[in-house]
Amino acid sequence: MTATIIDGKAHALALRTRVAAHVATFREATGRAPGLAVVLVGEDPASAVYVRNKGKATLDAGMASFEHRLPVDTEAETLLALVAQLNADPAVDGILVQLPLPAHIDAQAVLLAIDPDKDVDGFHPVNAGRLAIGAEGFVPCTPLGCLILLKDIHPKLSGMEAVVVGRSNIVGKPMAQLLLQQSCTVTIVHSRTRDVAAHLRMADIVVAAVGIPRFIQGDWIKPGASVIDVGINRTDDGLVGDVDFAAASAVAGAITPVPGGVGPMTIACLIRNTYVSACRRERLEAML
Ligand code: NDP
Repeated sequence: MTATIIDGKAHALALRTRVAAHVATFREATGRAPGLAVVLVGEDPASAVYVRNKGKATLDAGMASFEHRLPVDTEAETLLALVAQLNADPAVDGILVQLPLPAHIDAQAVLLAIDPDKDVDGFHPVNAGRLAIGAEGFVPCTPLGCLILLKDIHPKLSGMEAVVVGRSNIVGKPMAQLLLQQSCTVTIVHSRTRDVAAHLRMADIVVAAVGIPRFIQGDWIKPGASVIDVGINRTDDGLVGDVDFAAASAVAGAITPVPGGVGPMTIACLIRNTYVSACRRERLEAML
């Protein structure tokens, strides 16, 4: 069997185009553009690229982009004051503080300071709690992107066996919550799991968020399974995922490539969440 390759770039473009059309309607209705504020502290090159891409995607969607770049030695109080100012700014619908923050700043304290109703990254504990109980909030962009890709292949996920590899707060845990909400039978495996392969061999759906290049072997995959590879690992061969793509794509029914799979969906979902936030704040129905 050769797996269908899930084209994350095409899905992301379709989502961004759809959001842009709805943003145009939003602007007509309200006379303003949805706004996303992105805060970058320091000059980490990878973070700088992410921030630039997020700003560009925001503008491409017809939204306002507010970029705040602070020096690496910024005091925590200065950053918290900026967050408070953005919380109070009516033109700002979404606030994103780019992680990682410099070591002298307590990242959790900064995330806690963001108004949960502007937390378009979905990292605030209030939004994690809302996701856990199925209340309206913001879902972290990467797992939301994975779910959109999965729903395209399996409009009805109910009853499927799903295994999430990794239990981070930004990917693994919210991914498991989303799949549970879709009535999958969900297993989370992690570094202390006794036999990762045994769990994966029963999985109809695999989401890999481990951070180890080509960790998941082809013969761990159940024939026909759908495999979503979140991993982004820089190696001598370039960017690779957490799944051995060559071997897994000979067994799986569908699989995301790296790059070009989950990555582009993350920014598209950020744009989506910002639009949704703007609609909620204006008491308009989001058209998604
Ligand atoms: P973390 O390092 O926070 O979490 C990794 C998880 O993998 C942990 O829960 C860890 O378990 C688990 N793990 C580590 N070793 C093993 C093992 N041998 N067997 C089973 N599980 C193991 O990573 P993130 O969740 O932040 O990111 C995961 C990957 O996804 C990275 O490659 C990252 O670059 C990528 N990523 C991609 C994004 C995108 O937009 N496409 C966005 C975010 C991340 P334990 O908890 O026990 O330590």
